[in-house]
Parts: sequence; structure tokens; C-alpha cells
Amino acid sequence: MGAYANGAAALPGFAPDGSLLTPTPIVELDGMACDNELYVKRDDLIPFSFGGNKARIAQCFFSDALARGCNAIVAYGSTRSNLARVMANGAARMGMPCAVVSPDEADGSRPRSFNAELCARLGAQVHPCQKGEVAQAVEAALDELREQGFRPYYIYGNRFGKGNEATPVQAYVHASREVADWERASGASFDYVFLATGTGMTQAGLLCGNVLTGSSCEVVGISVARSAEAATEHIEGYCRAYLASRGVDVPADLHSRICVSDGFLHGGYGRADAAEQQTIRHAFAHAGMPLDETYVGKGFDGMLRYLRERDICGKRILFLHTGGTPLFFDALDGSEGVVRA
Ligand SMILES: *Cc1c(COP(=O)(O)O)cnc(C)c1O
Repeated sequence: MGAYANGAAALPGFAPDGSLLTPTPIVELDGMACDNELYVKRDDLIPFSFGGNKARIAQCFFSDALARGCNAIVAYGSTRSNLARVMANGAARMGMPCAVVSPDEADGSRPRSFNAELCARLGAQVHPCQKGEVAQAVEAALDELREQGFRPYYIYGNRFGKGNEATPVQAYVHASREVADWERASGASFDYVFLATGTGMTQAGLLCGNVLTGSSCEVVGISVARSAEAATEHIEGYCRAYLASRGVDVPADLHSRICVSDGFLHGGYGRADAAEQQTIRHAFAHAGMPLDETYVGKGFDGMLRYLRERDICGKRILFLHTGGTPLFFDALDGSEGVVRA
């Protein structure tokens, strides 16, 4: 098991507990959010596999897998999945086989993506399946690895994707501590944290971090796919699982602390409207900051619209850049030309 012979289960830049050795930078962006002070926490700059929230989450999964004595990975994600790419990369580093159960899009398509390309080149065994066949595909991937003599680890728990909710939440509890440290050092605190929200693992981590530190900062998730109601339910499930695993009481107002907007879906996962694409071009030309159309572009543009729609001004705001850089390059194939301002 090469690099992990001593049980030091850390990807480059990480401690085995999932914290980063060096916190990611928090940089101010001028002139982008009307009369608010806007900062961005650049988790896209985490130094493993193009970074992103999935690098932090992957570290938590690998540590858990090793603690359970597993030596093969079964990941999950569509062709655009950043998590699948980072898990495939981590497994390649550790010399573990990696299978990726990969559902089609809701419309049955399998869009090309650099993430899927990287998964394949990293040697991951991709198991394409329809949305309704995930449990069977997970079971088949686990069986195949067991037959080869491995002890496989499925990142989401059982074949129905339940049972491992607490593990990934830890990733953004750590990140939330980095934000609290920054606030203490700079003597300024954030009124809001915005992020693109999908499965809810990341938002749940930030919320649990707030519970543990007593921070009253409002966390706003811009949904990239789900209705606000469905996203809220998933986030609450992740929070409850994490707090229970730590023996921390669930705050009575947990449900009302979960804020998700589904007002910027633009038709669903992977869809962007012209205004989002314009924001993406502007963010790159003005700030040199890559945003992808599926996640971070939706989150960033959704945040700007959310602030405008609600006349929010004079606040200190943190946008969490959750990565997805390979998807930024996917969009350059389009006729629009992402880098033109
Ligand atoms: C997965 C992902 C998200 C959403 O994170 P969740 O924890 O699934 O809510 C946001 N941004 C990027 C780039 C992602 O890959």
C-alpha cells in the first residue's frame, strides 16, 4: 500500500483527520457584489487533484476506509462528478482499485467531461447505470472487487446510499474552523456564507461547524439541482448524523437554520442561463477566478442575484469556492468563449 505503509492516510496537503495543513486563502473581491464586502475562500486551490470541496471530502472517506481495513474504493458520480475524479485520483495514489458507479443524467444522456476522462485515465473502473439501477450497480461493483479478494469501501454506506452520512460532514467542520480562525485574526466576522449546494454534505459541515463554535453567521446554499425542500431534508439528515456521531445535542432550531434557494436552477443540473455565463466570463476576466457552469458559477451568480433581489447591502459576505475546475475547461469547448469579458 506504498505511501500508506505507516498508516499515514493523508493526501498531499492534508492531515489524516481531514484538516488541511495550510488553510485555503480567503481573498477580497472588489466591485462584484454591489455595496457588500465580498470575500472568496478558494477551496479550488487545495493542492490535490484540482482541489475543491471533494478533495476535503475524499480525505475523510479515505481515512474512514483505511480505519475500517478496506483496500478498494467504490465511488459514485455522474460523468461531471468532481468527487468521482478525486476519489479515482486518491485511489491511484494509494495503489487501490477504484470503481465508479456512474448514473446517466435525468434525460438519459452521458455528457462528455474532463472529470470522466480523468477518471478513466486514472484507471477507475466505470460502471454506467440508469438512475433507477444504482443499488444493483453498487452491489455488482462491490461483488466484483470482493471476488478479486479485496475489501471494498462504498463511500455512501450501504447499496442504497445510507449509513455513512457523518464521515463527509467532518470535511467542512474543519473548513468552518479555518473561517473562524480567519475571523479571529482579522477582527472581522462574516454575516453570510454562500455556496453551491448539491448533496448537502458541504453545507451540513458548515452548519455543524457553526453549531460547535456558536457562530451565528447565516449559511445560504444555492441549489444546483434539487428543490429547496429536498435539499433541506438532505442537509438536515447529514447534520443529525454528524452531531449524533459526536455526541452533540441537535439544536432545537436546526431546521430553521438551513437556508437553501432553488431560485437559480435554470432548468436543472448542468444547465446555465445567459446571465450566469456572463457572470462566469466577468469573474474570470475581472478576478482571474474560474467558475464552472454546473456548480460554482451557479452558486456565485445565484448569490449575486440573491443579494440584489433582497436588497442586501453593507454586509460582509464569504463565498465558498468549492472547486470544479475541470468543468471550467469543459465549457471552453462551447461557442461562447468563457474567457471573453
Ligand atoms: C459537489 C460539489 C458541490 C456541492 O457540494 P455538496 O456537498 O454535494 O452539496 C459544489 N461545488 C462543486 C464544485 C462540487 O463538485
